[in-house]
Amino acid sequence: MKNLKLSVLSHTQNKRTVIRVGDVRLGEEFVIIAGPCAVENEEQTLETARQVKAAGARMLRGGAFKPRTSPYSFQGLGRDGLKILARAREETGLPIVTEIMDTRHISLVSEYADVLQVGSRNMQNFTLLKEVGRSDKPVLLKRGMNATLAEWLNCAEYVLSEGNPRVILCERGIRTFETYTRNTLDLSIIPAVKEVSHLPVIVDPSHGTGRSTLIERMSLAAVASGADGLMIEVHQTPHKALSDRYQQISPDAFSLLVRKINRMKSAMDDIYRDES
Ligand code: PEP
Ligand code: MN
Repeated sequence: MKNLKLSVLSHTQNKRTVIRVGDVRLGEEFVIIAGPCAVENEEQTLETARQVKAAGARMLRGGAFKPRTSPYSFQGLGRDGLKILARAREETGLPIVTEIMDTRHISLVSEYADVLQVGSRNMQNFTLLKEVGRSDKPVLLKRGMNATLAEWLNCAEYVLSEGNPRVILCERGIRTFETYTRNTLDLSIIPAVKEVSHLPVIVDPSHGTGRSTLIERMSLAAVASGADGLMIEVHQTPHKALSDRYQQISPDAFSLLVRKINRMKSAMDDIYRDES
């Protein structure tokens, strides 16, 4: 792997990291994480969990603590949201990915989550990174919206250097001059990560585009880019969602999408069969 001149070099170990969560082996098999932007209520979350599982999702996402631009927007259900996620896991067996925003919540969120998500806005919250670095849960580290690859990997290093080797990187779009899309999904970063790091990396086309109509093509392109998985927002009634309503897709759309993703994955495996 190429040397990115990181201050610390644990990224350049030769063996690719595989992260086991229940029976999921992220880094070894292609993994789709799906679920609502936010946990809004029990019925919505359970129904979505059942549907995304039936469609082929391997983990359930859902925010209980939401980082919102406005303090007057829905902030998430907090502990009640975490309990709902735990019920969804109990029923479907899907491991839970949920965001941690504050070091004060580490024991609370860890009680319910299988994977701790550090959001884009907190990518460089070094205190939080050190805290999740001392946890025994895998960490899904989203790329900061203005972070370079080196900055992002150094943040992963904060987690690794505290003793937690289980970091999943997630590209979710960066800020550019373009305003049609919410962010600019930087798919070139995926093969770049693969050149310089052993960590698995997934793509979030929902936040990466901010537009439900663009999710399908960007998901397929993410597969072609060599990503280890996808994280996609799914809502029962996207237009009524309490957050991110323009980018969430319906369970039916998700189900059709998974079939196309699987076909794309087989095509890519075919193309690269002799090189692995
Ligand atoms: C999310 O995944 O719910 C989220 C808030 O994403 P990001 O941190 O990428 O904006
Ligand atoms: Mn969201």
